[in-house]
Amino acid sequence: MTRFAFTIAANDGRARTGEIAMERGVIRTPAFMPVGTAATVKAMKPADVRAAGADIILGNTYHLMLRPGAERVARLGGLHAFMAWDRPILTDSGGYQVMSLSELTKRSEEGVAFRSHLDGSRHLITPERSIEIQRLLGSNITMAFDELVPTTSTREVQAAAMERSMRWAKRSRDAFDGRDGAGGEAHAKHNAIFGIQQGALDEGLRRASADALVDIGFDGYAIGGLAVGEGQEAMFACLDYAPAQLPADRPRYLMGVGKPDDIVGAVERGVDMFDCVLPTRSGRTGQAFTRTGPLNIRNARFAEDQGPLDPTCACPVCATWSRAYLHHLVRAGEMLGAMLMTEHNIFFYQALMADLRAAIAAGTLSDFAGDFRARYGRGKGE
Ligand SMILES: [Zn+2]
Repeated sequence: MTRFAFTIAANDGRARTGEIAMERGVIRTPAFMPVGTAATVKAMKPADVRAAGADIILGNTYHLMLRPGAERVARLGGLHAFMAWDRPILTDSGGYQVMSLSELTKRSEEGVAFRSHLDGSRHLITPERSIEIQRLLGSNITMAFDELVPTTSTREVQAAAMERSMRWAKRSRDAFDGRDGAGGEAHAKHNAIFGIQQGALDEGLRRASADALVDIGFDGYAIGGLAVGEGQEAMFACLDYAPAQLPADRPRYLMGVGKPDDIVGAVERGVDMFDCVLPTRSGRTGQAFTRTGPLNIRNARFAEDQGPLDPTCACPVCATWSRAYLHHLVRAGEMLGAMLMTEHNIFFYQALMADLRAAIAAGTLSDFAGDFRARYGRGKGE
């Protein structure tokens, strides 16, 4: 069994396609990971997530540590058994959410003390505890614990957060390997850990962060601190240099991205993995992604539209139900509306990734991306 092996089958410009082989299955890259925040990809059964084409999903450390609790999930056999998803799971470190969702956070070199947004209970999350939680969950790709500060912070603040994140990356790696005495050796033999590049929109800080991570050594490398409100132009400007600062023979994961056009642009710039709540969250608010851009199914013009959400989509929802029916379900607040809209959206994202992989393999990515940009967002989903 292969613990973790990344193979690049083809390059096209800066883009690559290939696969990551892990014990629980193969992840085709570029890959999109649906987000399963609370041990569920909201409104979807795991078999449907898989049928849509997902090779891997993401679980959230912060949410699961608070409810139902990492130790409880471990007693119940781990996240895979608990939720009935048997393929790879990547868990985030909890860093982003503890700093964005919880109250009264207090940061120190040791970690982050905070009160739960659910019940006000007190917790401390350190790099070692984050890694322990991810191990208890049974994570296949563990993320290093890092410190985040707003992109609008001064360069001095950004530099200090990046440097602390690199010290925490080392502590995360040591904890993952069992060097903190918490017994991680067995888990480390079968699973992987990624480091996270920080440094906001500063090329020099990003360079220093990449070098520090490579010195520690990780199975893959994430690009963190983007998609936090800086806008697509600024994000792409950063992606013009950030992926190339990371090792070419390791997967590069752009955290929290994004809209379909963000993903196409990031793949062109050498990114291999993505996650975002957008397809699932949008499914619950009536937004569907289509070949020509997003549409809001609540719009009155769909009330008697007998066509599918997207005429070019091969998903079970588009094969079976009309825009008129989905319009009715969503307007009536029926839970099936959220389920079907989410299923279509996850399928749409996976189909986009399959198209990107095929275009890179064929050496036609720039044509594909040009066509995509010419049609996407042009119409109103028609
Ligand atoms: Zn569809």
